[in-house]
Amino acid sequence: MFFIEVILPLSLAKTFTYRVSEAEFHFIKKGMRVAVPFGKSKIYTALVLDIHENAPTLYEAKEIHQILDERPIATEIQIKHWLWVANYYMCGIGDVYRGAFPTGLLLESETIVSHKPDVVVNDSELSDDEFLIYEALQHQSSLKVQEIASILNRKNILPILQKLIARDIIFLEEEIKESYKPKLVRYVKLHSKYETDQGLGSLLDILKNDKQKEIVLAYFQISASEKKPVTVKKLVEVSGSSSSVVKTLVKNEILEEYLLQQDRVLFTGEKSEKELLLSEAQQNAFTAIKQSLTEKEVCLLHGVTSSGKTEIYIKLIEEYLHTGRQVLYLLPEIALTTQLVSRLRLHFGDKVAVFHSKYSNNERVEVWKQTLENSEKAQIVIGARSALFLPFNDLGLLIVDEEHEQTFKQTDPAPRYHARDAAIVLANFHNAKVLLGSATPSIETYFNTQNDKYGLVTLTERYKNVRLPEVVLVDLKDKHFRKRMTGHFSDLLIEEITEALSLGEQVILFQNRRGYSPIIECLTCGHVPHCQQCDVSLTYHKFKNQLRCHYCGYAIAKPTNCHSCSSIDLTTKGFGTEQIEQELASLFPKAKTARMDQDTTRGKFGFEKIIDTFKNREIDILVGTQMLAKGLDFDNVSLVGIMNADNMLHHPDFRAFERSFQMMTQVAGRAGRSEKQGKVVIQTYNPNHNTIQQVTNHNYNGMYKEQLYDRQIYKYPPYFRIIKLTIKHKDFDKLKEGSMWLYQVLSQNLNIPVLGPEEPAISRIRNEYIRTILIKIPQNMHLGNTKKTIQKMLNSFEAVAQYRAIKVVVNVDFY
Ligand code: ADP
Ligand code: ZN
Ligand code: ZN
Repeated sequence: MFFIEVILPLSLAKTFTYRVSEAEFHFIKKGMRVAVPFGKSKIYTALVLDIHENAPTLYEAKEIHQILDERPIATEIQIKHWLWVANYYMCGIGDVYRGAFPTGLLLESETIVSHKPDVVVNDSELSDDEFLIYEALQHQSSLKVQEIASILNRKNILPILQKLIARDIIFLEEEIKESYKPKLVRYVKLHSKYETDQGLGSLLDILKNDKQKEIVLAYFQISASEKKPVTVKKLVEVSGSSSSVVKTLVKNEILEEYLLQQDRVLFTGEKSEKELLLSEAQQNAFTAIKQSLTEKEVCLLHGVTSSGKTEIYIKLIEEYLHTGRQVLYLLPEIALTTQLVSRLRLHFGDKVAVFHSKYSNNERVEVWKQTLENSEKAQIVIGARSALFLPFNDLGLLIVDEEHEQTFKQTDPAPRYHARDAAIVLANFHNAKVLLGSATPSIETYFNTQNDKYGLVTLTERYKNVRLPEVVLVDLKDKHFRKRMTGHFSDLLIEEITEALSLGEQVILFQNRRGYSPIIECLTCGHVPHCQQCDVSLTYHKFKNQLRCHYCGYAIAKPTNCHSCSSIDLTTKGFGTEQIEQELASLFPKAKTARMDQDTTRGKFGFEKIIDTFKNREIDILVGTQMLAKGLDFDNVSLVGIMNADNMLHHPDFRAFERSFQMMTQVAGRAGRSEKQGKVVIQTYNPNHNTIQQVTNHNYNGMYKEQLYDRQIYKYPPYFRIIKLTIKHKDFDKLKEGSMWLYQVLSQNLNIPVLGPEEPAISRIRNEYIRTILIKIPQNMHLGNTKKTIQKMLNSFEAVAQYRAIKVVVNVDFY
């Protein structure tokens, strides 16, 4: 008898055994997909992990439906890495498999497919079965795979569906079809012949045509008053002329036209990014990195904001490309890829592939296959954390940019992996090197450099020697006392904004809270409206006139009376981005403002759109949440205002100070990216707080030392590894009892600190009560064995009948 061992795309730790024929046995290889029956009537796409002759002992092996691949579609190293992830992060291998594969490669009975309404198909191009499916979908816009199987009255339909998907005739329901192209704005400037001051006089002499004169005069008028690049649109508007006249002027070489997004470089006076020349400091860092990577697997590039880390990555990638090996470039945020891709394509042309959950299935499948085949087209793969699970053949270099970003850690669903750490393990399997980059490295990573585990290269100067921004602190207590506040703006901040705007420079305002104000409170009885399903107060969104829960989306219209005592004396407390934007409207009525937070970037490409408009200088003041802190490169921002530094500092979390430092330093780093030194105004009630002082003095080392000291005393990473268990149930008493049971078993069996079961700050979400248990594993303790013990305890917890319905989420290296 012949068997295969497979992974199912379900949240299961086990693998399953299926029977195959002898011929199949000889054909099947590890890493191929097979369609298998599971449960009563389900079909799944399973992945072959092993081929053997051992019948399972606990159940009778079913036969597979069919083999889906002719060649392996996953590599052995890749599967080995998945197994590591499942084991290390204590989740099912099925979770990793499911998270790794593009859904297009994972068809199952419940998958919903639809036909593309705009596609006209020639019937004769379709096989009989294909035609039947196509026809069925004409009558019903969408069908489950299972339903299609019964229409065709056969089980083996996955390959047919796959062909139709590949040919773009049908698609999977969850797919996103929108794709985004950065907007290109047409700008004009005076042709270089006339750039001197005498230009205008001689120019007006040359021009015979009045309409043309009007345009040139308007051009001078706009550029003198606005000190901004002049768009064609504006020029036409002001001159009252038409764009065809502008075209003629361009043709006659009086004006020059350029597109800002694409040719942003022209703007800074650079020639072409193609001839990339490193500055001396960058060159030194580059040499040091190469040296370090000959000795160590991992090197950290600690380079201040705007030091040109990307340029160094590009140089390093260039070197690895010569070896023919693959390069993976991980970013913390999908929205940043658009910017980076165009930068990388300038150097590497079509060798750059992007892998990203917002891309369509076919695009993702394509990158998957290119990576698998070691195609030149995917020699450099850029992506957010999930790109880590692609079928690389021969990785040579992995770059993790902004390595400190917490978005590298997946929280939900499993696998709850940290992409930076999993990248280092993957590199090890490939014998590849890792470069981590950040202006504000995580404590863990920096600790590893101090221990000589990782190399360290420091770049302390910004590109072109632009100075780091000057940080000015505003004591809010004092300003309030002396009545120097207008809304949430201090007089100083208002002055600085006024000045920046008058110089045609842009401003960023940071407030780490969205909405209008966090809380509505009754002045009579103190009642604060809470979410019905979660233990949090509702946030007031003025624009929609709603109170919303930021955890479950629950929303009600803003009440006019207190729900508790009917009083109409309601007041708002605290403030969010929406309120800042509104205050700006009355403080700076002429300025164009925009807001970047979860509420305004919800559309598929909302984030990119706002970034582009800001880059194109169509926005003067950008207000936003922590999204602003993510490695964005703007060249005209001279002022950054941090509206309130305190709510970050007071977050109940052992990383709060580290994160506050990173966030403020990163946001501050957006200021002063051209020749001029930028300015950062931090408004705070605690100007003497150590973290604030460290931000002000650009003192990373001070922050690091202080935090490290605290971490040791309070038993946190890097000295202790943390596993957090989140225990959830609808029944409060049962949860209380169950979590206590689990806590006791754990602390009796583990000879290490186990804390809890704690009621977290938000102790109920979507009607489920929550308790947490924290397990702290010291460095000298065997991690694998400890996890095994924990897993055993979790298994016995699951075996207790009355606790079976209680969910336990395991988060290893909790962030
Ligand atoms: P970081 O990632 O370190 O904050 P970036 O890589 O975004 O910095 O660089 C900041 C700016 O300086 C970018 O606009 C980049 O194009 C420019 N820059 C940096 N180094 C060079 C170089 N060697 N040649 C040309 N431009 C550079
Ligand atoms: Zn009341
Ligand atoms: Zn809620």
